[in-house]
Amino acid sequence: MITRNLNMANLKAGYLFPEIAKRRREFAAAHPDAKIISLGVGNTTEPILPHTNAGLVNGAQKLGTAQGYSGYQDEGIARLREKISSVFYKDKFGIDEIFISDGAKCDIGRLQILFGSGAKIAVQDPSYPVYVDGSVLAGAAGGWEEYAANSGGYKGITYLPCTAENNFFPNLDLIPNNSVIYFCSPNNPTGAVADRAQLTSLVNAAISKGCLIVFDAAYSEFIRDPNLPKTIYEIDKAQTCAIEVNSFSKPAGFTGVRLGWSVVPKAIKYSTGESVNADWSRIAGTIFNGASNIAQEGGLASLDDDGIKEIRELTDFYLGNAKLIRNALTKKGLTCIGGENSPYIWAKFPGRDSWEVFSEILEKCHVVTTPGAGFGPAGQSFVRFSAFGHRADVEEACKRLEKL
Ligand SMILES: *Cc1c(COP(=O)(O)O)cnc(C)c1O
Repeated sequence: MITRNLNMANLKAGYLFPEIAKRRREFAAAHPDAKIISLGVGNTTEPILPHTNAGLVNGAQKLGTAQGYSGYQDEGIARLREKISSVFYKDKFGIDEIFISDGAKCDIGRLQILFGSGAKIAVQDPSYPVYVDGSVLAGAAGGWEEYAANSGGYKGITYLPCTAENNFFPNLDLIPNNSVIYFCSPNNPTGAVADRAQLTSLVNAAISKGCLIVFDAAYSEFIRDPNLPKTIYEIDKAQTCAIEVNSFSKPAGFTGVRLGWSVVPKAIKYSTGESVNADWSRIAGTIFNGASNIAQEGGLASLDDDGIKEIRELTDFYLGNAKLIRNALTKKGLTCIGGENSPYIWAKFPGRDSWEVFSEILEKCHVVTTPGAGFGPAGQSFVRFSAFGHRADVEEACKRLEKL
């Protein structure tokens, strides 16, 4: 018989969403009349807006014509790479530094190949699960250690607690030298957004410690405060030490279409002097072969003037939901962060176990949330509310939260 990849057996934290789904099913079976509303997963709910959708239709139609047909476009359609550089980065990057992907999560998984099983990893705690789980799959994480009820961590991963005490920005002294730092802002799950001074200190720490930052900007289009940086490259020298991953999933409603990009600047070098960009290009050609041409035409439409208006409209809608949820929780006397420049609200239930709070909200309000401990040890006592939902459902959920 073939043997199992032991890294698979090491995966622990990946049980979060299946466990939530199981608890929801059990509750629904016991309460068949309950109308359960989910503010749990971060999945978009609203239709793709007309101009962007027309781009997708156009992309499909082109493939059926002799002049419009195209095959593999390994690193992405050049027009889209140029457009991304101009819309998001003021043309700071050449198209050979922008790689179109089938989603940020997929790229985060593939990025681990660059660093191999010997890599040292540092993550915000709590964090989006793929940084940790992807590292475990790549064999970089070592074994699992239990060190608190309902939580724990991997020996090879340095967890950087982000708590109310440090304003949800980690102590950078904890970051090991020569490590890969995963950093997400606006953050999933906390909704916190790092300001310019904080990101400057992060970039400076990365440079002085010989680290590479993988900056996840999937929620940058939810930022409304003009003083908050929307990309790591607003920070001086970030192009020497940071890869940025981003996605059309949340701003354009492309969670099911699948389209994202990564910026891998040519200035980034390994300790041995080789180019990270050249290796990434090699990986794209070797095990990926590029994103759907149809999705890329949709992405292009979403970045012209009409498309950008649609991104604004869609993100405004979800931010409107976030405001309702935040107000409902604040009225109950709960301390929340997020929900202003991000679609997540992170609510604190002091002294409580987050799975226990999850169950209480499900039982009293018939609302599904995500227990904070599922995102890392420092998520204990927190619950994440997602603003991705239809307005009527969010309004109804907010009414029911009064029962807490
Ligand atoms: C939703 C999300 C993504 C997007 O992933 P895709 O694969 O592009 O859909 C990336 N990062 C974070 C933190 C997310 O929450």
